[in-house]
Amino acid sequence: MRKVGWQDRTIKRIATFKQEHPLMTLQQIANHFEVSRPYIYKVLKNNGEPTNNRLVRKKAFYCTHCQDLLPSKRKFCSDKCSFNYRHVKVSCAICHVPFYRKKAVLRGKAKLGQTYIYCSMKCMYKRSQLV
Ligand SMILES: [Zn+2]
Ligand SMILES: [Zn+2]
Repeated sequence: MRKVGWQDRTIKRIATFKQEHPLMTLQQIANHFEVSRPYIYKVLKNNGEPTNNRLVRKKAFYCTHCQDLLPSKRKFCSDKCSFNYRHVKVSCAICHVPFYRKKAVLRGKAKLGQTYIYCSMKCMYKRSQLV
């Protein structure tokens, strides 16, 4: 049986400890105090302390497409991801040749109610001949 007031003191110590060691993870702090990680989280949250490593997180960048960790501040890990993020593989409604279209363009088409995609003006013309 622990003495009354033990918890209050521990809560204060955890909050202070976190301020002194802002780069330590919740798990590391939990190990230090020999308590569970959710307990540390609760204590910090109740005290209005940051529960994540903001300093560390600030330095982490992820590829917008594949979510890979990036070494520096960039949107994509590669040109391929950048391309795949903006383009989608489609095939021509007439000649069925696969090609890439910008997603933004396809969204615009969908808004206009256009469901068919053509690889070229030639195919688009062919289509109008068929109807
Ligand atoms: Zn990527
Ligand atoms: Zn075509």
